[in-house]
Amino acid sequence: MTKIRIQCSNCGKVEITSPIPGVPDGMYFSGCRAVGDAFYCEDCVKTWAERNGDEFDRQYKDPKGMFVKWWNRTVDTQCKGKKIKAYRVVNGVYVEG
Ligand SMILES: [Zn+2]
Repeated sequence: MTKIRIQCSNCGKVEITSPIPGVPDGMYFSGCRAVGDAFYCEDCVKTWAERNGDEFDRQYKDPKGMFVKWWNRTVDTQCKGKKIKAYRVVNGVYVEG
């Protein structure tokens, strides 16, 4: 089964996960965030304000949309040629599409 490798841009922690429905939702709700191609684990998002002056979700207008874009790009890059569904956000929830 296809796996994707995710590394926190702050602490370097590596997670291996599956590009399947529910995974990005779970990661987002557990507190993970992303900016562009940079991923931040839940622990580093908790301490975000100490490093960056304000809470992540207050610094960025669309943290969920940013996370979805990051997820889709990561899956695209790591699962080239495989049919993996992309995600988008509709009314604040992830949908496959
Ligand atoms: Zn981290």
